[in-house]
Amino acid sequence: MRDLDDDPIRSTCPYCGVGCGVLLRPDGVGGMTVEGDPDHPANFGKLCSKGLALGETVGLEDRIFTPELHGAPIDWDNALQMVADRFRETIAEHGPDSVAFYVSGQLLTEDYYVANKLMKGFIGSANIDTNSRLCMASTVAGHKRAFGTDTVPGTYEDLEEADLVVLVGSNLAWCHPVLYQRLAAARKAHGTKVVVVDPRRTATCDIADMHLKIAPGSDVALFNGLLRFLANSGHLDQDFIDRHTNGFEDALANTKDCDCRATGLPASEIATFYNKFAATKKVVTVFSQGVNQSTSGADKVNSILNCHLATGRIGHPGMGPLSVTGQPNAMGGRETGGLANMLAAHLDLENEAHRSAVGEFWDAPRVADTAGLKAIDMFRAVEDGRIKALWIACTNPVVSLPEADRVKRAIENCPFTVVSDVTRNTDTARLADLVLPALGWGEKDGTVTNSDRTVSRQRGVLPAPGEARPDWDIFAEVGRRMGWHAAFDYRGPSEVFREHAALSGIAAGFGRDFDISALSDMDSEAYDRFAPTRWPITEARQGGRFFGDGQFFTASGKANFVPVTQRAMAAEPSAEYPFRLNTGRIRDQWHTMTRTARAPRLSRHLGEPYLQIHPEDAQDLSLQPADLAKIEGQGESAILRVMISDDVAKGHPFAPMHWTCETAPAARIGAVIAGATDPVSGQPESKAAVVNITKLDAAWYGFAVSTRQMAPDTAYWAQTKTDAGWRAELAGMDTVSDWEAYAQALFGLSTAPEVLVDPARQQTRLAFVEDGVLLAALFVAPEPVAVARDFVASLLDQPADGILAARAGGERADPGPTVCACMSVGRNQILAAIEAAGGDLDRVCQSTGAGTNCGSCRPEVADLIARQNRPLAAE
Ligand code: SF4
Repeated sequence: MRDLDDDPIRSTCPYCGVGCGVLLRPDGVGGMTVEGDPDHPANFGKLCSKGLALGETVGLEDRIFTPELHGAPIDWDNALQMVADRFRETIAEHGPDSVAFYVSGQLLTEDYYVANKLMKGFIGSANIDTNSRLCMASTVAGHKRAFGTDTVPGTYEDLEEADLVVLVGSNLAWCHPVLYQRLAAARKAHGTKVVVVDPRRTATCDIADMHLKIAPGSDVALFNGLLRFLANSGHLDQDFIDRHTNGFEDALANTKDCDCRATGLPASEIATFYNKFAATKKVVTVFSQGVNQSTSGADKVNSILNCHLATGRIGHPGMGPLSVTGQPNAMGGRETGGLANMLAAHLDLENEAHRSAVGEFWDAPRVADTAGLKAIDMFRAVEDGRIKALWIACTNPVVSLPEADRVKRAIENCPFTVVSDVTRNTDTARLADLVLPALGWGEKDGTVTNSDRTVSRQRGVLPAPGEARPDWDIFAEVGRRMGWHAAFDYRGPSEVFREHAALSGIAAGFGRDFDISALSDMDSEAYDRFAPTRWPITEARQGGRFFGDGQFFTASGKANFVPVTQRAMAAEPSAEYPFRLNTGRIRDQWHTMTRTARAPRLSRHLGEPYLQIHPEDAQDLSLQPADLAKIEGQGESAILRVMISDDVAKGHPFAPMHWTCETAPAARIGAVIAGATDPVSGQPESKAAVVNITKLDAAWYGFAVSTRQMAPDTAYWAQTKTDAGWRAELAGMDTVSDWEAYAQALFGLSTAPEVLVDPARQQTRLAFVEDGVLLAALFVAPEPVAVARDFVASLLDQPADGILAARAGGERADPGPTVCACMSVGRNQILAAIEAAGGDLDRVCQSTGAGTNCGSCRPEVADLIARQNRPLAAE
């Protein structure tokens, strides 16, 4: 057994596409410590709050240990045979396109490779798509149109080499925090200029020299205008255009009718940005979901690539477009063909020679020859019965997809759904006929590829819980049971990886970019030792940048300019739906929170779903801070806490996307988002839904803490873990006549509580105390409850003195709501430090510890300094 003095095991963080290296030290009893890997080229030892809290997420509560059929245990043999039989029978009766896999950017490359091979090569359908469709499909389409392949030209080092970094639709500070820290450090060291293009003021703007608060969806107008400006002002690289590109004149002609006023930006701001871009040779344009999640996402990508191609600013240090992916292995999924419109190793489904080479390599009976159904269309095909057997792996589409309630109904009605996941307690797994226990992060072995093409090992350091198995193994076993023994006879992930690497060598023979063929004979020991390496990885070449030599992967060897035009979004605001809703992530949570919600400190910063809304909109709707708002779209609705802020523009509120039936069932924001998609990439428009907003007139509001998980039964609740139990926000539409009985049902307690009625505040407070220790407490009022929430939560399982006063006592200072999740520093502590240290950001951070680890909260500390005299929206 290992102990904490042993050398750490190197692995990779499973959250965002930065792909940070971690050092893991298992404690021998199921836990581990986690540190940043100082030798990993993505993070050099840094981690953000989510990565740092990984050790708190590996407990086995909620895990599934054996397969379950309709909630009852079933052995693996019968479970796998059932999957194989149901898929085989469905295919025999209805054809290969009657089945589908919906997989995930959380899967490892080896998992992806086997699943894709099974579907595209042996089942003979391309109906395998991935939640990466929601993340970067538009970038894939844009890259392929411009470069001939899905190639990320640059590297993370370009952020440090650049003189100007333009961030488009990217809240790097919250969504890719370690990259943000690298950029912030570069800015401090040599004055890198930063421009943020985003309809919303985000934490990333803290380091921006310029924030272009662009109108939603108008990126093409901005970059088409830039292309025209570059041409008109003599800033083209004509030699590069002439020798290495096609289609420039058409693309430029297409900008003729472009009206930059569509951006809603003042002409002076546009001119300043254009001049800055034109005058700076070393420019990197970083883009992510704000660009991709759009019905014109691919066009937005190409409008950016056009500007870099026109100036020859690509493939050289500090120059180029850089797409940053949301998921840890979105890139690995692209490499293995995990998207419905790709083959494998960046080969093309539509190309007969490609298909034939892959079919021969796999010894496959049939290789799919047409693109399969992309995510939204796939679930619509489930809905209308075209797909009759569905396998969902490692993802939670009932929450994460647009038109989420429609997806839920489709899965409910699907004749056979199998889910492989680490838990049965997701909104999706609960609907499955069969749930298969998969290994989770910390238990499984394989590889991932991050946003700058660096392939890293993820290593299993914890034992498999119960009978859980790796995903590649589950897919392979089903492949064997469907009759393809030799093709799926893998003995371990290294064997899968070698095959994947060998296939990339064949792809390279077709002039493809993705080539890691030098790893195709790597033995298992070398695989175990494999250190992070950027592709390509061949005998002749390793890593580096693409396209600096002017060689692209199109038939002509030249890059394509793609003429693009500013287009309207799928729906315009109307009398029925007057607001345009933006959605995204928050700093300390990951996707549907199935892991991050297990770490109490990650819920302290923003522990409740919220609607960020402009003050004038709030006034028009009679919304006060901390009210609840009802958001309606698609005939569905969500309830969110109101946060009033001029960080968002009037008419353009924002809501995060993380909450589920487990954590806040009324707040699944995917339910109100339409399933409109980009016609080129199939990526849904998740950031521009049209919605209506009204105030929710609840009869009462409540705040509760309990040492045990609560069972709320109200119109609105949001529950999160604390160090000693749970806390919940509540609201009900009906008057409650007996609060004591209500509280007993909520907490599952039968004892009588202490009750205090505070007529001045119109509050009723109830506390359940046993042997002087607090078990649970409930605060209710006809208005949103004002109470020192973090302080009350800190009293759980502690002596209960002062609980009904709900104020910090003299011996227990109330730190206030958490600002820094890494160092557990609260707002009150920071405000006190501002009093003592004045407005110096570094001194405030040093004296409190806030912002001294990952640094993601530094923008918020700076904001507190700036706003110290301004009242805050909510307690
Ligand atoms: Fe993980 Fe944070 Fe690094 Fe992303 S930035 S890989 S979430 S530690």
